[in-house]
Amino acid sequence: MPVVGPAIRDGAVLLDAAGRIIAVGPDATVPSPPQTAREHLTDAALLPGLINTHTHLELTGFAGQAEEGEFWAWIKRIIAIKAARSEEAFFEAACTGIRDQWSAGVTTVCDTGSTGAVIAALDHLGASGFAHHEVFGMHPEMADAAIRAFTVELDRLARHATGRVGLGVSPHAAYTVSGPLYRAAANVARAHGVPMAVHVAEPPAESALLRDFTGVFAEMWTEHGVPRPTETPVTPVAWLEQHGVLSERTLCVHVIDAGAEDIALMQRHHCAVAHCPRSNRRHHGADAPVRDYLEAGLRLGLGTDSEVSVDPPDLIAEARAAQALTGWSAADAVRALTLGGAEALGVAHVTGTLEAGKVADMVAVRVGETDAPEAAVLAAGRGGVIGTWLGGRPVHRVTSR
Ligand SMILES: [Zn+2]
Repeated sequence: MPVVGPAIRDGAVLLDAAGRIIAVGPDATVPSPPQTAREHLTDAALLPGLINTHTHLELTGFAGQAEEGEFWAWIKRIIAIKAARSEEAFFEAACTGIRDQWSAGVTTVCDTGSTGAVIAALDHLGASGFAHHEVFGMHPEMADAAIRAFTVELDRLARHATGRVGLGVSPHAAYTVSGPLYRAAANVARAHGVPMAVHVAEPPAESALLRDFTGVFAEMWTEHGVPRPTETPVTPVAWLEQHGVLSERTLCVHVIDAGAEDIALMQRHHCAVAHCPRSNRRHHGADAPVRDYLEAGLRLGLGTDSEVSVDPPDLIAEARAAQALTGWSAADAVRALTLGGAEALGVAHVTGTLEAGKVADMVAVRVGETDAPEAAVLAAGRGGVIGTWLGGRPVHRVTSR
């Protein structure tokens, strides 16, 4: 299933020793040089490795430990359980989380976190992904100190940004980051030449904070003596735009509460969207206007969010949920899982399809004998994954079932 073209029955892929794809096509047409190691997959679909555009892998192991229904209470619970975990434990959790993604068919992740554990783990495991480091500070007067400390941390983490590992900048969210801190973080990202990922337009209280300073976040800001962010009502997306955050290197995560003007802003700045349909339902009982994003031509990938939100993370299940919102065909959904995610992360020149010249990021999903392989992959979900290869290297194998 090359994704760049229709599925090929009895297809074959030839790789070079460096893990790049040399040829893809029907088995009879793909060269088979002597001394080439061969592997035969039966009753399986082979497709590009999946691209998970939103994870929080440092939270691996916390599933079931934050069951609060109200979003801010849930975040406060996560802050509390994170405070009790050591640096070593975060690193181990991140490694476990990356291996779990591999076992679910994901070869590239786009992660957001505050500990730095995920970029260290990506580097340690020779994995592929971006790790966006979070910065917080809701009081405008905190912005300078916060960005100075943040820049020191970025410099410390940058040594892990080698091979297929990239660093990014993530000002957390409009309810934990002031306008000046957004602007400073965007400047740091540009100065370092790294992408940004932002949780934006997610809970209704985020919109209320910026619209008329009401709701749970406005109460929290008042409690902490933080001034009202803006006297002029503004939407979360427009608020980011006003502070220089939106660009072609900005990944907007969730984006549930966005109207036509917000979409036009994301379009004008060529932003990408990470769509996490099951997390959106779980926390907010709401769906993002994802059809509108697609109509506007925004680059869009799928994300699982953390296992504390939806357990277990299953990107293929996210694609099924997205199908219900978008009217995607099975082939469209498979494209979103692979090439769509790669486009959203700006790595489509490297991965996201099976074609000569790209790295051999591949996943094999057991589908049985079928005339509708894309639908069969979607129906199988993560439980159907029998093999995952990252740049030709096997990183997950189920040998017998
Ligand atoms: Zn998130």
